[in-house]
Amino acid sequence: MSQFDRVLRGGTVATATSVFTADIAIQDGRIAALGTGLPPGREEVDVRGRLLTPGGVDPHCHIEQLAATGLMNADTFESATRAALAGGTTTVIPFAAQHRGMSLAEVVADYHARARRGAMADYAFHMIITDPRPELLAEELPGLVRAGHASLKVFMTYERLRVEDEPLLEVLAAARAHGCMVCVHAENHGMIAWMKRRLVERGHTAPRFHVTSHPRAGEAEAIRRIATFAAFLDQPVMVFHISTREGLEAFARARAEGVKLFGETCTQYLLLTARELERPGVEGARWICSPPLREDEDVAALWRGLELGLLDCVSSDHAPYRMDESGKLARGPNPGFHEIANGMPGIELRLPLLFDAMVARGRLELVDFVRLTATAPARLYNLPAKGDLAPGMDADIVVWDPEAEWEIPEGPRWDNAGYTPYAGRRVRGRILQVYRRGELVVADGKVRAQPGSGRFLPRTGGLPARPTGRLAPELDPARNGGASLL
Ligand SMILES: [Zn+2]
Repeated sequence: MSQFDRVLRGGTVATATSVFTADIAIQDGRIAALGTGLPPGREEVDVRGRLLTPGGVDPHCHIEQLAATGLMNADTFESATRAALAGGTTTVIPFAAQHRGMSLAEVVADYHARARRGAMADYAFHMIITDPRPELLAEELPGLVRAGHASLKVFMTYERLRVEDEPLLEVLAAARAHGCMVCVHAENHGMIAWMKRRLVERGHTAPRFHVTSHPRAGEAEAIRRIATFAAFLDQPVMVFHISTREGLEAFARARAEGVKLFGETCTQYLLLTARELERPGVEGARWICSPPLREDEDVAALWRGLELGLLDCVSSDHAPYRMDESGKLARGPNPGFHEIANGMPGIELRLPLLFDAMVARGRLELVDFVRLTATAPARLYNLPAKGDLAPGMDADIVVWDPEAEWEIPEGPRWDNAGYTPYAGRRVRGRILQVYRRGELVVADGKVRAQPGSGRFLPRTGGLPARPTGRLAPELDPARNGGASLL
C-alpha cells in the first residue's frame, strides 16, 4: 500500500466555512485526504495545538514593475515572493503593466520571463492596459486570454496611465466578449490634478498634502461612474482598494442595485490613517500610497463593510519603494508630495496583521479571515486549486501558533523596501511553517524555496464572475433591428 508523502497530524484546520480538528495527508503536492486517524505518511508532522490555514492569495501586488515615471519598484520576483512566502502567502497576482505604445503581448512575455526567473510563490497576472487601441483589443487580447490571462486592470487616474471614459467602455466591452474581469483603480483624475496643482502652486508640498490632493469625493465619483459603465455594458468589475466611507457607500449602493461589482480593500486602509503622514520632514513619505491613507471614520466604515460582507477580499497592494534615491527620494532629498513614488510594502505582513486585527482581536471570525485573504480571491480570479484546504487542492498550508505575541521590528524585512509601515506594532499569531504544493518552504524563520520554483497559474475557462444578462436598453439588439452593438 502506498503511503502518503507527509501527514500533518492533529492540527486545527480553518477553511472559509468551518474550523475543525483533522489530519491532513499530502501526496504529490496536493491534499490527498483530510480527516481523523489517517494512515501514516512517510513523514509525520505533529501539529497538535497549531492552527492550519490555506496559503494566502494576494490578488493585488506590484512586483518588479516599471512605473510610468520610469522608476522600477524595489522588488524583484525573487525578493517579493520570498517575502510573500515568509508571510504565508503562497499565491500572488501581480501585474503585467503596459505603458502607452507598448505591445501587450510583449509586456506579458517580459513579466513571464521575470517571474520564471525569480518567483517562489505561484502566480498569475492582471494585465494593465493604458492604451486600449483597437488593434490591441482585437488582435492581442484574445490570444492572451486564451493563454490564461483572464483579468485586466485599468486606471481612471494618473497622468500617463489613465483610460478616459470612451476607451474605458471599449475595454469593458472587450472584457465582456472574452470573459475577463476588469479591475479598476477608481478615483476622479480631474479632481486630483486640480487639487494637486493648487496645493503645489501655493507651496503646500509636505508629504501630508498627498492626502489632501486625493479628494474623498473623487473616489466615490469614480466608483459611481465605473458602476454605471459596468451596468451599461453588463460587465463584472472589481473595484480595487476602496479607501473612504463615501466610496464604500457608492459601492454598496451600486451592488444593492444589482450591478456586478466586486470590492477590495487593503491592509493599510484597515490599520493606518493619514496621521502617519504628519511626521516631520520627509518621514511621512513612507506612508504615501494611492489612494492615500484616510481618517478614523473611514477605517471604521471599512471594518463595517467587512462585517456586513460587502467587501470581497483584502489585498496588500504591495508597491515597494526604498527611502533613498532609487525610490521615494529619486527627485531629491526633500521632495514635494507630488514628487514621491506612491506605494508601500505589505506583501509579507498582510496575513499576520490581518490575523491579529480580525481574529485575535475578535472583530471577525477565523472563517472570515480565511475567506477574505485566500478563498475569495482564489474563486474570484479562477484559481481552482488554491485558497482552500480540501482533498484535491494544492497543499498550500500555513501553520500558525495562534497565541504567540510578537512585535514587528524596525528595519528591513524579506522584501527590498528597507522599511515596514507597521514597525513597533504588537501582534498575536505567528507563522511557524509554510508549505507550498506540499514542499516545506518556510521553517525556523528561513525561506527555503528556490527562485523560479513558483508556477504560473493559467486561468482558462473564463471567470466565475459572469455577466448578469441585463444590458442597457440602448444595447438591446431587439431595439436595434436585431443588430448587436457589442
Ligand atoms: Zn495597486
